[in-house]
Amino acid sequence: MTQSDADGDGQFATSATGERSRAGTNRDRSTSGDSSDERTGGDSSDVSLERTEIIDSSSAFQAVGHEIRAEILENQLHALEDDGLSRQTFADLFAASSADTSAGFAYHLEKLVGPFLRKVDATDDSDGDDDGRREPGYEFTYAGLKIARAIQTGAYTRRIDSPPIELDDPCPFCTRDRSSASTSSSVSAESGSAFEPEDEREHEHELPTLEAQTVDNVVTITCPDCDRQVLRLQFPPSGLESHGDDLPAAFDRHHRYRLATMSDGVCPECGGDVASRVSTLSTESGAGSTGGETAGEHSQTPPQVVHTCNQCQHELRCPVTLSILEHPSVISFYHDHGIDIRNRPLWNVGPEWAETVLSKEPICVRVVTERAGDVLALYVDGTSQVVETQRSASDESGAIDRD
Ligand SMILES: [Zn+2]
Ligand SMILES: [Zn+2]
Repeated sequence: MTQSDADGDGQFATSATGERSRAGTNRDRSTSGDSSDERTGGDSSDVSLERTEIIDSSSAFQAVGHEIRAEILENQLHALEDDGLSRQTFADLFAASSADTSAGFAYHLEKLVGPFLRKVDATDDSDGDDDGRREPGYEFTYAGLKIARAIQTGAYTRRIDSPPIELDDPCPFCTRDRSSASTSSSVSAESGSAFEPEDEREHEHELPTLEAQTVDNVVTITCPDCDRQVLRLQFPPSGLESHGDDLPAAFDRHHRYRLATMSDGVCPECGGDVASRVSTLSTESGAGSTGGETAGEHSQTPPQVVHTCNQCQHELRCPVTLSILEHPSVISFYHDHGIDIRNRPLWNVGPEWAETVLSKEPICVRVVTERAGDVLALYVDGTSQVVETQRSASDESGAIDRD
């Protein structure tokens, strides 16, 4: 079983998930789709018309290529008001800047007007009493707000490395190796759930726990005992810096919901449409697999779900098990057994999961989990959709067996 086929920015190993944003093969282009071009605030161009305005990307980035201009965008961001608008007068912005002269400042401000800021006239309060009157000034365009936030998160400016921190969770591979009870491609018993029966956690004390290390804003979770990589995923610098000891939980939540939205066909990076497929060949990525590690005891590689955004080329791969964690049948199955499956981190969702490729033409993967003799089976098609579920007590029928 290939535990890791590193490609690009990150991946889950067989028990884990990875994602990468492929180098942009998408060029700026005009579109004439059916969505109206959403505009905000004072730019009251004729919104009844459907149109897409394309700004040359090199000139857009050139516009922020000066420290005074980047500073203006940051100051504008810090002035955001409850209504989500940030209207600053020329005097406000100049006072907050480090520019020496108003003439020099005006030059830089003007470079931002158009792509990132819009100039707005005074507006009266809607009820006419002038207590909400707004002075003329500058507001963010959509692009301005996006780029100001990107600067603020440090995505382009801060590179964070940090030494390994120990996680609470045992290594899924070592758990599997030691139990040898199943060929599950998934992970190991959780720790720390308030709902988890005590006996579930007893033996875990003997198992090696995972470590998370950050290099260049990418978090890698590995087992120091068996040296295998469980997952490798990016996390924005603002997230790495702001959660303290809660970083593992925050990292898990962040990626859990990104995975869920990709599974639902919407890209968390750009909102674009996502194509999903199930790959039964772990080395077929075409993205330069390093070959990873191949464990000799398994000849069959586990299936992976591959989500790819058709717009920004963002890609995420994960075991089939992780792609169905949010399915209602899974949530309710675990709930019936007093377990909140959402409390189990992505790098360790439990040793009881098993995946079996039932058919390759067409693709059908069965994912089975079991609790106290109760068995849930989900059948996943080649587009990663759950097409059927079955639930029964395992001792009542041979129809559902674990491979
Ligand atoms: Zn291990
Ligand atoms: Zn996208």
